[in-house]
Amino acid sequence: MSAATHDAPAVAARAALPLPYTHVDDIFIDGAWTPARGTGRISVTDPATGDVWGSVPDGTADDVDAAVGSARRAFAGEWPRLAPSERAAYLLRIADEVEKRAKELSLTNTRENGSPVSESAGAAANAAGIFRYFASLADYLEREDVRAFPKGGGESVVRREPIGVCALIAPWNFPINLVVIKLAPALLAGCTVVIKPASPTPLSLRVIIDAVAAAGVPAGVVNFVTGSGRLGDALVKHPDVDKVAFTGSTPVGRKIAAACGELLRPVTLELGGKSSAIVLPDADLEAMSKVLIRSSMRNTGQTCYISTRILAPASRYDEVVDMVTSTIAAGKQGDPLDPDTVFGPCATESQYRTVMEYVESGLAAGARATTGGRAASLTGGLEGGYFVEPTVFADVTPDMRISREEIFGPVLCILKYDDDGGNVDQAVALANNTEFGLGGVVFGQDRQAALAVADRMDTGSVGINFFASNHAAPFGGRHDSGLGTEYGIEGLNAYLSYKSIHRQP
Ligand code: NAP
Ligand code: MG
Repeated sequence: MSAATHDAPAVAARAALPLPYTHVDDIFIDGAWTPARGTGRISVTDPATGDVWGSVPDGTADDVDAAVGSARRAFAGEWPRLAPSERAAYLLRIADEVEKRAKELSLTNTRENGSPVSESAGAAANAAGIFRYFASLADYLEREDVRAFPKGGGESVVRREPIGVCALIAPWNFPINLVVIKLAPALLAGCTVVIKPASPTPLSLRVIIDAVAAAGVPAGVVNFVTGSGRLGDALVKHPDVDKVAFTGSTPVGRKIAAACGELLRPVTLELGGKSSAIVLPDADLEAMSKVLIRSSMRNTGQTCYISTRILAPASRYDEVVDMVTSTIAAGKQGDPLDPDTVFGPCATESQYRTVMEYVESGLAAGARATTGGRAASLTGGLEGGYFVEPTVFADVTPDMRISREEIFGPVLCILKYDDDGGNVDQAVALANNTEFGLGGVVFGQDRQAALAVADRMDTGSVGINFFASNHAAPFGGRHDSGLGTEYGIEGLNAYLSYKSIHRQP
């Protein structure tokens, strides 16, 4: 392979971007931005250039205590006692306020984690859609639920009460929406919350907090602290927290689960994945090519549910390798602020190193890089960015690390399965041969056959000929991909505590 260079697009000088927040020293408690107690700082870096452009307080246990205290007082106030339809009205107002801030959200998000603007431009609309969807569930909460004793002689009134003060902890890959999918159901349920963003991406969420405040949500209902994993740990274990909702890596999820187990504290965990796209022998590869990046390499490969293992039938193996290679190679890599960019940088320097280690391990194990396979060298101010060339590995075998472990970067693996006589059992076995169980896709033209294969996949969500998550349907992982679900009525139930009041007729 020859040394690849890419033209860096001319983009507006970053310093001139209209970003609402850069260097800040406050956190959001009791309905106001207030100075953090800790004196430590966390830097915010632009992963496309390597430049530090912002910073936030590295909060302390005292900050956590103040935030949880604020949420606790608000939980003793009017918020949980409002009718669900009244809280839904707040959610609708938040949705409007979020949409007004679409540009700030997109640019801040892109500068924090390098998500191409073609991706982050949709963040506000998606967040607003999530608030509106959960607002639509107010009826479900308001419906009276009375159940007769099966043997007669009495009935039970089933109450759905808010679970209490919730700790919401998020990763850096989709810093806005992975909080909003927790915040919206928590608020509708009548809970109060303390949010902790990931350290690389603490600024875009401030814009969401501003939207919440502008919508008139009562003081203390939503609180926001910034800080390291240590602060997250203090939040998870705080005695006044009633529930933890976490999205992030499996190792941190295990630690949180252990802490919550000891405390008998309800917890929802959305963790890592290593999902497969099964290409059935009758798949339409041209159609697959059109959705491949979205379903297998969305957000430069930094999406939890994407199908980064492509399982290709032996009868069409070369064709699949050619299609995947040419599709990925055609995606433009470069400045995430350029609207034409498909692949940006890795979100952090440490993620860049992790991804490069996986690329090297794939090469060392004998996988064949059909495109990419090394760090990208870009020009035009992007020389210091954390770019890895979008990489496709063919001839991957199930035992290779790149086939088993979550890479979380722009790397796809293609594995071959034996489809002799049209039998796809081996593909299903390969897809299910993983510790994870989050996403998956089946590509095939026969809808019944594709559905039958989807039914056999041991995973929380599967798409047929595309992948997208639906706000109204549960999303969650099996096995090492997590516990519990988000989205849908199931996602709302995670913020409720049930009470049965038994009475005689
Ligand atoms: P991470 O390292 O697990 O961190 C996630 C969050 O937890 C961050 O806010 C982090 O803070 C915090 N944290 C770290 N240690 C903690 C502790 N001991 N107690 C409490 N909180 C702690 O994950 P990440 O690197 O940000 O994100 C990438 C991972 O997220 C990938 O594995 C990906 O698959 C997963 N993910 C899953 C889903 C899903 O829905 N299943 C969606 C997106 C991403 P700091 O940033 O300050 O360390
Ligand atoms: Mg991390």
